[in-house]
Amino acid sequence: MIKIIDGKAISKEIKDEVKEAVSGLKEQGITVSLAVIQVGNDPASGVYVGNKKKACEYCGIESVSYELAEETTQDELLTLIEKLNKDEKINGILVQLPLPKHMDEDAVIKAIAPIKDVDGFHPQSVGALCIGQPGFVSCTPAGIIELLKRSNVEIAGKECVVIGRSNIVGKPMAILLLRENGTVTITHSRTKDLKEVTKRADILVVAIGKPKMITREYVKEGAVVIDVGIHRNENNKLCGDVDFDDVAPVCSAITPVPGGVGPMTIAMLMKNCLTSVALMQNQ
Ligand code: NAD
Repeated sequence: MIKIIDGKAISKEIKDEVKEAVSGLKEQGITVSLAVIQVGNDPASGVYVGNKKKACEYCGIESVSYELAEETTQDELLTLIEKLNKDEKINGILVQLPLPKHMDEDAVIKAIAPIKDVDGFHPQSVGALCIGQPGFVSCTPAGIIELLKRSNVEIAGKECVVIGRSNIVGKPMAILLLRENGTVTITHSRTKDLKEVTKRADILVVAIGKPKMITREYVKEGAVVIDVGIHRNENNKLCGDVDFDDVAPVCSAITPVPGGVGPMTIAMLMKNCLTSVALMQNQ
């Protein structure tokens, strides 16, 4: 019996937990707030930012929006980040990526105070993750761990294969699976004989960015398959990096697109805003 992992339901569970915690903080006179900065008007970024604001509203988190013109200079953006770093009323700071080409994303990410780095992209957050210290974790891989745990998928001792080595998904995903005691292999565009490696996986996490690339030839019978990809097909319908119809019959559990990993990313962002409150209280 194949299990469809319901990311929509699990993300709602998490947002409801955050909502309750936010309301508890409100009773103590503490407001949780997230600053969301968007530079330029990339339509996809606009949709992502809109969804993040909606989630804030649902959880009772105050979202403060900064919609900056495409021509904004890097110095102007850094000045705004510096102001928000110092603002005690702001907990999380999120800069929607990608930034316009004239900006250096690494420099912008580095400018965010690590205790407000709710996206978990700051080198300090990444370093803390690597050495097992507390800190922010990139929302998509953190959400995948929650999906697995809340679907009762055991990670310890399992063969886990991650396809993709990006800084925001593949690498932190591999480290998180390792932290959960999985036996982890990272594969990428230079991996020789990808199928031979992915066929070993009890848990296969796919973050390639290529629509429906993963068919059943890549998947071991009974594996758990997590699809991170998001694409629009020729009929404007969403699909993932996994060919769902082909793979679902051979695996024990799989995430759909939409309704799998996507909603978890935003739910974990909400959770990270709470972490930021705790870090600011302890500093
Ligand atoms: P990326 O382009 O930065 O990285 C893709 C990775 O795939 C690279 O490391 C590359 O080495 C690897 N790769 C490419 N071709 C390959 C091949 N033929 N064989 C093996 N490996 C190959 O992408 P990303 O930012 O990690 O995102 C991956 C996908 O996940 C995209 O579709 C993106 O839209 C989606 N995404 C979804 C969410 C979400 O919230 N659901 C969040 C982030 C990214």
